[in-house]
Order: sequence, then C-alpha cells, then structure tokens
Amino acid sequence: MRKQFVVIGLGRFGTSVAKTLTALGHEVLALDKNEHAVQLIMNDVTQAVQADAREEETLRTLGVRNLDVAIVAIGDDLEANILITLMLKEMGIPYVVAKAQSIQHGKVLEKIGADKIVYPEQDMGIRLANNLIRTNVMDF
Ligand code: ATP
Repeated sequence: MRKQFVVIGLGRFGTSVAKTLTALGHEVLALDKNEHAVQLIMNDVTQAVQADAREEETLRTLGVRNLDVAIVAIGDDLEANILITLMLKEMGIPYVVAKAQSIQHGKVLEKIGADKIVYPEQDMGIRLANNLIRTNVMDF
C-alpha cells in the first residue's frame, strides 16, 4: 500500500531514505532548511521544500500531521532533532523514526516518544559484519 512520508534533514542519510522510499512507489515530502540540499533532491521525491522544521506552523501548513511516517534525519543539531521529534509525536504522526548521535541521545528520543531510533553508522556496521559472515566471503 502506498504510504505518505516526510523526511526532515537531507544529509546523506535523509537523502538516501527519501530517494529509496520514492523509488519504492511511496509519496515523500522532503524538507531541509538548506536550499541547496532541497535543489539536489527535487527531481527524485514527490515534493521538496526549503523550511526550518522547528517552526510548528510551517509543518502544519505543509500538512505534515496527516502523513503516516516521519523520519527525523538531522544530525549535528541535537536540539532541533529532539524538538522536531517531540512536535511530530504531539501532532499525532503514528510512526516517527529519529536518527540518534549517541546512546544518551537515543534514550532521550525514546522518552519523548520516538517509535524507532536508528544509529546509521552502527547499524550499517552490524549489517555488514553479519553479511560478511552469512555470505561466507572468507571461502574464496
Ligand atoms: P549525514 O551523516 O546524513 O550526511 P549529518 O548527520 O551530518 O548528516 P547534518 O548535516 O547535521 O547531519 O544534518 C542533516 C541535514 O539536516 C542538513 O542538510 C541540515 O541542513 C538539515 N537540518 C538541520 N537542522 C534543520 C532544521 N531545523 N530544519 C530542517 N532541516 C534541518
């Protein structure tokens, strides 16, 4: 079933998530405060908007509250990451995924109601290690 997503923060991680979801046939609203990041993804998602996602009014105007899933992919700005995750949950978005920078950050995100917390570098490291073992790359 076609779902509606918003991806906030178009760094490497957010961009990759947004493009992949679109390629899989879903509707994706991509948001970043940086105009250049928005320009780069414009042709690969349903809608790309330049905006500061800390502004609740902006999120409301964009109809974010009616979407199925939100992905908060902001990295360095912990305050923005936490505040936006909290706002999205308060707006009633059923499933909010947030990217954490550390275990402590992840704990805060869990407390404020994030439904899934991801640690992209660590998660990728674990996946690669498991893949290497499963595919028996040592048997060459
Ligand atoms: P990656 O590792 O995925 O490349 P990162 O962890 O280094 O990214 P940042 O570059 O800090 O993360 O943030 C990702 C994006 O989030 C940036 O393009 C930045 O402009 C955007 N961003 C940061 N704060 C906001 C905000 N308040 N509203 C919208 N976008 C924001």
